[in-house]
Amino acid sequence: MLIDQFGRSHNYLRISLTDNCNLRCFYCMPEENYNFTPHSKLMQADEIGALAKLFVRQGIDKIRLTGGEPFVRKDAADIIRNLGKLPVQLTCTTNGIRIDDFLPEILRSNFNSINISLDTLKKDRFQKITRRDYYDRVVRNIRLLLENNIKTKINVVLMQGINDDEICDFIALTKTEPLEVRFIEYMPFSGNRWSSDQVMTQKKILETIATKYTFEAIPMGIHDTAKLFSINGHRGSFAIISTMSEPFCSGCNRIRLTADGKLKNCLFSKKETDLLTPLRQGKDILPIIESAIWSKAKRQGGQLDEKFEMIDTAAIQNRSMINIGG
Ligand code: SAM
Ligand code: SF4
Repeated sequence: MLIDQFGRSHNYLRISLTDNCNLRCFYCMPEENYNFTPHSKLMQADEIGALAKLFVRQGIDKIRLTGGEPFVRKDAADIIRNLGKLPVQLTCTTNGIRIDDFLPEILRSNFNSINISLDTLKKDRFQKITRRDYYDRVVRNIRLLLENNIKTKINVVLMQGINDDEICDFIALTKTEPLEVRFIEYMPFSGNRWSSDQVMTQKKILETIATKYTFEAIPMGIHDTAKLFSINGHRGSFAIISTMSEPFCSGCNRIRLTADGKLKNCLFSKKETDLLTPLRQGKDILPIIESAIWSKAKRQGGQLDEKFEMIDTAAIQNRSMINIGG
């Protein structure tokens, strides 16, 4: 069991396969001076397998693959195949561009759900947000997942003045499609020029949806970060991830492994623990992992102000989101 000083036990590992990406979402990837990590400095496929096995022996039973974009990594299929043999619930967060290429692997490895990020239903806006022209392919691939009966969740990062006018359009999608639309509050990371007035809070999101729809909260599990809602007469549902306005740190069961093999005990931690170097040196890394998790801060890496309006982005020491994986 991987337990921290506040008694939280961790059974959910998010592994970033790469910090490279085929999109350039402005809220995720810094505009200036961004260099992708060279392959030799990334965890190699066998190292990911070895680390994952070690974590599974310590009680990890859910692994989410992320990035950058996990499916741009050349050996992603091998990694998925290997992790698919472990006794874990395997899943991933992807921008959806390469789902068609990876569908056989996804089906073979029993992914029971996939999160696809899509922040807008407008093609021209997609291009502005992501600085690339892949809207049609992403939408086609969402359809492909649904046709193959893979539970599909759509991640929407809501930003005031950018896409907050599309909340009800996303809800409308759930009328006939069994999609879970997850609205994510915009978060501050290095280089993303976040400001608190851009955050669409849970309260505002619910108020907006209530102007058109009747919905009901679905009871949450202690570890759920997303608050889930059903909508009257809809096949799908929606959820809100209220990291900024109503953090959910007390039930946190997540830890993260960056693509270069650093353990982050929290999305917002400034401290990272190198696992790859001692692994390559043949050292026993379990005590290193245990002590890194034990020292996890009570909330938000010990870095963010409790009132998100007071957060000083210049004082935050963290990676950019593309470099952590979400
Ligand atoms: N490339 C994949 C994707 O886009 O889904 C996986 C990596 S991405 C970093 C993981 C998730 O983090 C995505 O849903 C993305 O929208 C979200 N994300 C990125 N930057 C964010 C931010 N500043 N605030 C909130 N969510 C963010
Ligand atoms: Fe790439 Fe995902 Fe970040 Fe967009 S959100 S830049 S797709 S890693």
